[in-house]
Amino acid sequence: MLYKSLNKISSQEYFNNAVINGIAQDKGLYFPSKINKLSKDFISNIQNLNNHEIAFNVIYQFIGNCIPKKDLMGIIEDTLNFDFPINKIEKNIFSFELFHGPSLAFKDVGARFMARCLAYFNRNSKEKFTVLVATSGDTGGAVANGFYKIKNVNVIILYPKGKISSIQEKQITNLGENITPIEVNGVFDDCQRMVKNVFIDDEINKIHKVTSANSINIARWLPQMFYYFFIYKKLYYKNTPIVVSVPSGNFGNICAGLLANKIGLPIDTYIASTNLNDSVPRFLNSGIYKPISTIKTISNAMDVADPSNFVRIQKLYNNDLNKLKMNLFSYSFNDYETKESIKSVYIKSKYILDPHGAIGYLGLKEFFKRNNNFIGAFMETAHPIKFHETVEKLIHKKIPVPSQLSDIINTKKGDTINISNYDELKNYLLGTNY
Ligand SMILES: *Cc1c(COP(=O)(O)O)cnc(C)c1O
Repeated sequence: MLYKSLNKISSQEYFNNAVINGIAQDKGLYFPSKINKLSKDFISNIQNLNNHEIAFNVIYQFIGNCIPKKDLMGIIEDTLNFDFPINKIEKNIFSFELFHGPSLAFKDVGARFMARCLAYFNRNSKEKFTVLVATSGDTGGAVANGFYKIKNVNVIILYPKGKISSIQEKQITNLGENITPIEVNGVFDDCQRMVKNVFIDDEINKIHKVTSANSINIARWLPQMFYYFFIYKKLYYKNTPIVVSVPSGNFGNICAGLLANKIGLPIDTYIASTNLNDSVPRFLNSGIYKPISTIKTISNAMDVADPSNFVRIQKLYNNDLNKLKMNLFSYSFNDYETKESIKSVYIKSKYILDPHGAIGYLGLKEFFKRNNNFIGAFMETAHPIKFHETVEKLIHKKIPVPSQLSDIINTKKGDTINISNYDELKNYLLGTNY
């Protein structure tokens, strides 16, 4: 499978080079040059397949010959070594829990998959990769954990100072080894812009082989398709249509859902649920894409004003807004609504939402005001413990600490490097020799 750049200038690349490059030289995002439908047999037989078999079938065409089947299956088994439970919250509303991985973030799947692909590509080489990632909260922890102690890979994580939760910060700063955290005086979009600049900076690229572990990297983006097939397997019931609501920030997850639909998953209706960073819902209403500056909210992993993957969504629909609107709905919610839903769901169902999942839940409720006869799932993208400062005040109850966190919850934030602008980042990278 070849990947083309959405800016159309750079040459096409196979999966391995597209992963290693992260982003094309012309700054474009990689996009599959050809998308084939899965066989009808696979879909109708999905109930008989386990998660690893489903994942293998879904991603195989996107890897092509870059990884032999046996090794690909090994990477998938290693990546998906935890559960994806689904919980009924209310009539026709299910929470699909994606937070049972090591960093309690749904990004664990993409980060683990990408780390293992890079390790595979680099298995016989002494060369070192520098993996650079900007995080609005959860990517950092997932990437730090997924790449921790992976041979010949150094990871640099940029996060906006004071704008991520204390647990998220500890997850990023407490590992050490090959993981370097950098605190940026700015917002997430500043971190993202700096990371994108590094990739096209010749001076840095002369001495370091840099790649991105943000959802712009196809190895992080594509495995997110798995979730939608898992939901289909679990919720499929005769001909009842399924709707999936995805709390969205950089729109990588929902874009993977739309891609899953394109390759034949019989889920046609998707909801991109956002916080006040509402560039996409405004676009779907007005046809005009006009990001405003980032707004800080309690669902901080979604504080993204100009979502990177939006261009991929446009491409999937050939920039046809009306076609896109047949599959994609999008609603935005403020912090007050988010908090009220955390309270009311806890009172009604004793289920603890985190602020991101709460937005997913609200999106489904909004959709159900005008549509019925659907079964709906929203993605619970983070464990509520990570936002305990917010959530415990609302439900008046302590959230039990899951085993993944018991070690770090009582530690202090680790050391970081602090920067304010691109030149400082560049100086740091140029001055670092691994
Ligand atoms: C990253 C993240 C999101 C947003 O996912 P995108 O793919 O960037 O849209 C939602 N919730 C949580 C908890 C996240 O970490």
